[in-house]
Amino acid sequence: MVAVVAAAALAMRQLGTRGIVRERWPVMGTVAVLAHRGGTPEARVEARAKTDAAYSLVERLLSAWNPESELSRLAREGCTNWLERVSVEVRPCYAEALRLAELSGGAFNPRVGVKLRELGVGSGTYSDFDLGAIAKGFAVDLAAAGMRGDADVLVDLGGNLRVVGTGAWRTGVRDPFHRGANAAVFDLAPGESVATSGNYERFIERDGIRYSHILDGRTGEHVAGIAAVTVVTPPEYGAMLADGLSTTLFVLGPEEGMRFLRSHYPRALALWIPDCPDSPRMVAPPEMKSRLLECAWPIINI
Ligand code: AMP
Ligand code: MG
Repeated sequence: MVAVVAAAALAMRQLGTRGIVRERWPVMGTVAVLAHRGGTPEARVEARAKTDAAYSLVERLLSAWNPESELSRLAREGCTNWLERVSVEVRPCYAEALRLAELSGGAFNPRVGVKLRELGVGSGTYSDFDLGAIAKGFAVDLAAAGMRGDADVLVDLGGNLRVVGTGAWRTGVRDPFHRGANAAVFDLAPGESVATSGNYERFIERDGIRYSHILDGRTGEHVAGIAAVTVVTPPEYGAMLADGLSTTLFVLGPEEGMRFLRSHYPRALALWIPDCPDSPRMVAPPEMKSRLLECAWPIINI
């Protein structure tokens, strides 16, 4: 028996409500949120318009579930020279995906879509070339880049968050075992981004065993042993890298993942939650641990 499950609960969320105006709407198979603190109604309307424009561009060009998108069309044609063929606005997203694939020795692999389709994960709409691990973060960067930056806005697309403006935002990492509300709480600083990859948002169950929608791109096997990975990135890395890195580090796990970060993305912070609901714990480097204001379980240093 295969059960396809898509939980609405998002892995990352902004905490607190005082003085915050929040807009929430469905897009790209997930939920978009814009949280505004202060600012004029005109500024809010403008921020929303920039965000809508960014998301519709990404949907039109990068969506794997829209057969008319540029990505779907090129994948059908068996494209191999992606960087030369795709529209200039989305080229950075392809470039980063290909770079992550190369640096990670194929652990991150946009071609896992073929295998995910075979396995029947999700709605079966994975394209042969799949940017699902990075496109939402790219869309968030695009939306944030269109904003003036003089008002405090938190851009959130399906749990991929980026701070615009000068204020910090209190942020919670959801408990992947659904016992408490948050596994950890920290403040996301101006310009920072955060993303989480988890095995509980989208998965399949076969004979009572849960398989995640993230595959090891080197083997095509489901990744086991990790419940969630959260990655925080500085402004110069952005939301696209937070998104791509969270998927990469989910595959690599804490030991290999930390070596990967230290060699290639030393300014990114990561927090792993192993899939051990009976003795929950977290694995994180000291720089991440020192950011946490609350954490539900012991932290193992890495
Ligand atoms: P995320 O939630 O950002 O971790 O992205 C998960 C999505 O990325 C999956 O639904 C697939 O579309 C895609 N994916 C799964 N495994 C990999 C992988 N090893 N490399 C790149 N993309 C992947
Ligand atoms: Mg990702």
